[in-house]
Amino acid sequence: MQTRHRAKKSLGQNFLQDANIARKIVDSLKISEKDSIIEIGPGQGALTKFILEAEPESLTLVEKDRDLAPALEQEYPEASIQLQDALKFDWTGLDPDKNWKIVGNLPYNVASKIMWDIAANCNATCVFMVQHEVAQRVTSGPGSKKYGAISVWIQSFCKTDYLFKVPPTVFKPKPKVDSAVIKFFPLSEEKKPSDIEGLAKLVKYCFQYRRKQLGKILKSFISDAVHEWAENEGVTLKDRPEALSPLQFQSLYKCIKSNFPS
Ligand code: SAM
Repeated sequence: MQTRHRAKKSLGQNFLQDANIARKIVDSLKISEKDSIIEIGPGQGALTKFILEAEPESLTLVEKDRDLAPALEQEYPEASIQLQDALKFDWTGLDPDKNWKIVGNLPYNVASKIMWDIAANCNATCVFMVQHEVAQRVTSGPGSKKYGAISVWIQSFCKTDYLFKVPPTVFKPKPKVDSAVIKFFPLSEEKKPSDIEGLAKLVKYCFQYRRKQLGKILKSFISDAVHEWAENEGVTLKDRPEALSPLQFQSLYKCIKSNFPS
């Protein structure tokens, strides 16, 4: 009865069955005994045992499904379990004196939102498995068709690397799409943008109209300063949002912020 209930509750989640891939994901994080690890969505613990084998200073498991937590508690008493939605986790509240690393085979329906929050709000090295297409978007650079708001946003705070692709056959149930593992290396604090709410609005606004030219998208905010910015940056207002690097979005925001709705 309980098993049936658990299966129903976990519907839509694909659990990793391949220990070699689980180990490879955890190895990519390069855990040392000084690291404090957070695992998002440990599920049935596919990654958890390899994390503990690496003997980090601490391990926190953030799992939303209350039916999965008791087994995790029993199997991994050395970990601290937080029965919580990762979307509501306070990433800004992590102790700045600790060396944080975050890992997870993320729930695909909320992976982009979780990564968006983590990249901007904490200083952690991260390894995530996500849908292959999302991995491509997060790691693509300017000019690519895959480059969009999430690429600009995450790359404003982190260097991102595409590590490897994972086929559907290693999950149960088998998803319809490929997955991939990506890694984030946080930029130094002085390289990260300030006024991040305004920047988020500008980036989302521009990519809403990704096929339009910047001049048309931003027509209400164009001033001499924007023309000067374009000339200095070697872009034209006929370019589309995908032509701008994360740094160019930041400098554009500084130019228009007095007019841009906050
Ligand atoms: N790490 C496991 C593995 O590799 O087999 C499970 C991965 S499964 C794709 C995603 C896990 O995240 C599930 O255990 C699910 O219950 C959990 N989850 C889903 N949404 C969540 C959320 N918003 N916050 C925290 N955990 C979540």
